[in-house]
Amino acid sequence: MSEQLADTPAIESEPEEEPLDPEVAARRNAALAQIRSFGDPVLRTKARPVQRFDDSLREEVARMGELMDDALGVGLAATQVGALHRLLVYRVQREAPVAALINPEIVWSGKETEAMEEGCLSLPSVLVEVDRPVHVRVQARDEHGEPIMIEASGLEARVIQHEVDHLDGVLILDRTTREQRKEAMRRLREAETAA
Ligand code: ZN
Repeated sequence: MSEQLADTPAIESEPEEEPLDPEVAARRNAALAQIRSFGDPVLRTKARPVQRFDDSLREEVARMGELMDDALGVGLAATQVGALHRLLVYRVQREAPVAALINPEIVWSGKETEAMEEGCLSLPSVLVEVDRPVHVRVQARDEHGEPIMIEASGLEARVIQHEVDHLDGVLILDRTTREQRKEAMRRLREAETAA
């Protein structure tokens, strides 16, 4: 639990403890305003496979990558921007290019699991512990329709699983303990009241 994740580092994540540069904070808030948040039924809807690998898909990948960066997230699923098709972007290393997975399928998960705190760009103010396999193998296509196979471990595996969950209408609230879910729901209600 020392490490934090989110679509996240705190996976789709929470901002760092130190205050953000005001420009960065403004960009983040503008990005978050474009991301669907808890209570929006689209987040509970299963996305459909992508059929066409055309320029508009590639534009969408680029837009999602920018949005994820601006939101200071490490992953983003199309569902979170209201597009119900199976597309996700992620980047777990600052210097790496944004990776896009289209029609991703987790074809293998290792037996070893690890619990870690996750946040979600669609659930501001929530961090819950989620137990997930440490190693996964994922089959997908890239934005040109080429088949790709990824062996992922650790943070990368966690982010991919978090985003694939989004494509199935599953949220971290569904993957944590009853106690943590209760506490998270309380915080979400509080945030709603404050807004
Ligand atoms: Zn998320």
